[in-house]
Amino acid sequence: MCPYCKEHDGKPCTVTEKPNGRLLCACGKHSWPNSGVFLETCRRLSLTVTGQVHTWTQSF
Ligand SMILES: [Zn+2]
Ligand SMILES: [Zn+2]
Repeated sequence: MCPYCKEHDGKPCTVTEKPNGRLLCACGKHSWPNSGVFLETCRRLSLTVTGQVHTWTQSF
């Protein structure tokens, strides 16, 4: 789901990858040029969110 929106009205704001490689969140507020940038965003945001398991950092 979108690391910025997280959810709207209890429903997760999903991120979909477009055929051209761009990623766009369900409400259209956020987009990323490619999956690498998206994953980096998730990783960075997860470091700042308390109480969230740091799965991103553990895998490196
Ligand atoms: Zn979003
Ligand atoms: Zn959204």
